[in-house]
Amino acid sequence: MKLFYADHFVLPLPAGHRFPMEKYARLRARLAGSGRISAADFRVPPAADDATLALAHCPDYVRRVAGGSLTAQEQRRIGFPWSPQMVERSRRSAGATLAACRAALDEGIAANLAGGTHHAFRDHGEGFCVFNDAAIAACAMRAEQRVSRVAIIDCDVHQGNGTAAILADERDVFTFSIHGAKNYPFHKEASDLDIELADGTGDAAYLAALDHGLDKVFAQCDAQLAIYLAGADPFEDDRLGRLKLTKAGLAARDARVLTACKARGISVAIAMAGGYARNIDDTVDIHAATILGAAELFGA
Ligand SMILES: [Zn+2]
Repeated sequence: MKLFYADHFVLPLPAGHRFPMEKYARLRARLAGSGRISAADFRVPPAADDATLALAHCPDYVRRVAGGSLTAQEQRRIGFPWSPQMVERSRRSAGATLAACRAALDEGIAANLAGGTHHAFRDHGEGFCVFNDAAIAACAMRAEQRVSRVAIIDCDVHQGNGTAAILADERDVFTFSIHGAKNYPFHKEASDLDIELADGTGDAAYLAALDHGLDKVFAQCDAQLAIYLAGADPFEDDRLGRLKLTKAGLAARDARVLTACKARGISVAIAMAGGYARNIDDTVDIHAATILGAAELFGA
């Protein structure tokens, strides 16, 4: 199973910044030490170029991110200080989802060990998201004529608002988001299917809602490729999530999504999305379990 990573393109953050940037390197180290993934399957993706980014973003926004001419307000909304490294890392992270989609279409399954930056809109970023990797990759796979129909299955605890907005008029890309009703973003966009869950929703109710959602997704979209945002933040000890899923519940969630795709012959590219557990090891556990579970299920 090919795993695309960009954690060595470090985005410098001020001391005490609340984004857990170190989770990515720790995830890669955990997977490398698992004995399950061969060293040759860890790949560095090419950076996404301007033309590819512009499949989902305004050329002017791409140009201003690249050149460092976002306004202070736009930069605050993203939540990271601008630096050339921020640009390179954002391009590589989008490139990793692109590469994972291409590998998944060849081999059934692949993953980006970052990405899932679903709060990035066509003309602005927010919530630690600069470029919307899933929207870019869905559009690129169609533009490259590798597939006609894509489903984006977003199980991060926050709504995929940027993805929904960017792809609102794209009939051949189905957007599904299952998230906490009271979580950020407080103004939700309309995905093709949204499921909003109450604070404190636990494993059983979550999995029942997910099953219902997946049935609806595949009844409405005969997808050839799924991009799965496997956010770790529905976890019960997450600082930003408000749901109460256990690690076993999250593993069951992954298995539900992946089995539903595999049963239909749909290739899956996985992106990590959010994860803000009080103990970063918990976030790494959850993301690692997603990857190892997928490798097992797809025999990759
Ligand atoms: Zn999130």
